Amino acid sequence: MRILIAEDDQVLADGLLRSLRNSGAVVDHVATGTEADAALMANNEFDLLILDLGLPKMHGLEVLKRLRARGSAIPVLILTAAESVDERVQGLDLGADDYMAKPFALSELEARVRALTRRSAGMSTTLIQHGPLEYDQAGRVATLEGRMLELSARELGLLEVLLQRSGRLVSKDQLVERLCEWGEEVSTNAIEVYIHRLRKKIEKGPVRIATVRGLGYCLEKIQPAA
Ligand code: CA
Repeated sequence: MRILIAEDDQVLADGLLRSLRNSGAVVDHVATGTEADAALMANNEFDLLILDLGLPKMHGLEVLKRLRARGSAIPVLILTAAESVDERVQGLDLGADDYMAKPFALSELEARVRALTRRSAGMSTTLIQHGPLEYDQAGRVATLEGRMLELSARELGLLEVLLQRSGRLVSKDQLVERLCEWGEEVSTNAIEVYIHRLRKKIEKGPVRIATVRGLGYCLEKIQPAA
């Protein structure tokens, strides 16, 4: 899951970054409205925007208005000061999906983040399934035919992206975008290495990661021979 945080309070932003990264998300942070706007225009791969409304340079409501005017439907969770009911109402009217009034508990924010991304993916639980392969986004546990898979954080992230798009092609560039934060040097070669490791861990099951030469990867079920 890739998340953009737009928040100018550095202490709060650091807390959010830590907590969301611990729960397995790939998280980027900007501290002004103009940067948030630019980041959202440059990258379509975000699953969620956490948007403080009181941002310098461009107000959070303007960032939201511009995002929705471009036709983007990504879930937006707005952060507002406790007393600003008007802003909250305006934010929801402009297409925000949920809000949190400051101060809030990080555990509640994490639960809302999970709920929002589930809803946008059309899922009612935290479980993503492809045949006998299951991944629980809340617990960060993957199982194959009921057996727990021992995967690194990177391998789990990779599996999550492949499962979210199972049966469809995912390019290496998309995987780099989904799995890496800004400033992180991860090459498409490194992606090949992660794919290789993940393959070894799931290869005994009836699911495989197919390589589509020059294009990317696709999670498929192996059809039993007729
Ligand atoms: Ca602020």
